[in-house]
Amino acid sequence: MPELPEVETIKQSLAPYVLGQRIREVTLYQPRVVARPGPEDFCRLQAGATVRSLARRGKYLLFYLEEERVLVVHLRLTGRLVWQASPGPLSKHTHVVWHLDNGFLLYEDLRRFGRLWLVRETELVEVAGLAALGPEPLGEGLGGSWAAAFWRRDRPLKSLLLDQRFVAGIGNIYADEILHRAGLHPLRRAATLSKGEAEALAEAIRNVLTEAIEHRGTSIRDYVDGQGASGQHQDFLQVHGRAGKACYRCGTPVVRIKLGGRGTYFCPGCQQ
Ligand SMILES: [Zn+2]
Repeated sequence: MPELPEVETIKQSLAPYVLGQRIREVTLYQPRVVARPGPEDFCRLQAGATVRSLARRGKYLLFYLEEERVLVVHLRLTGRLVWQASPGPLSKHTHVVWHLDNGFLLYEDLRRFGRLWLVRETELVEVAGLAALGPEPLGEGLGGSWAAAFWRRDRPLKSLLLDQRFVAGIGNIYADEILHRAGLHPLRRAATLSKGEAEALAEAIRNVLTEAIEHRGTSIRDYVDGQGASGQHQDFLQVHGRAGKACYRCGTPVVRIKLGGRGTYFCPGCQQ
């Protein structure tokens, strides 16, 4: 699933191709991927509008259009947004095509769990999950009041990092990498963290996500950026997907356990 670094990379890679471009028309091949409005309005209300700015909030991508309308995209498991100069042969997984003045923006989604919304700016709070998001980890959001919330949460750290209301944008891959960087066991109860450990965790979150953005995201399965290029961060993963292999830091074999139905990787040597 695309997480914060992948969505941020998609945003950055799309920006030069879609900013200032006029949407001539929108073709919707699979209405199921649009949460709101209805399929006809979704296409009609975007036709003729210019893309004014792009933003990211957690794992949501936001296209600000004219007339205070916002196209919101959540890629979920296998969604992709790719700009192309020509539409090429569309695959059966291409569900939306935006015809721009300079080319075509395609929404593809193999599993079709991704969702799109077209709302007024004032209606953004009605987009499922968006208003409930916790702080952005790369801003000023992970300060003292955020860290203090650890001591009120009697939950495993991994579950807490995956909770978008606690901190926005982290998914299964980066939660594992962040906890390894901070030297914290994924099952450690959040309420037992010392102040120093909480600060180290906040720093690990910022550092791991920043490095992943510098590497243009992690391509383990489907992820590509807005120009169809794979990321590089899969070559830098320390524990995620490395069960049985030696930890780069201490040599202990990495272990995989199940937590909340998700594969969780950690090093028993570094994360006691
Ligand atoms: Zn280790």
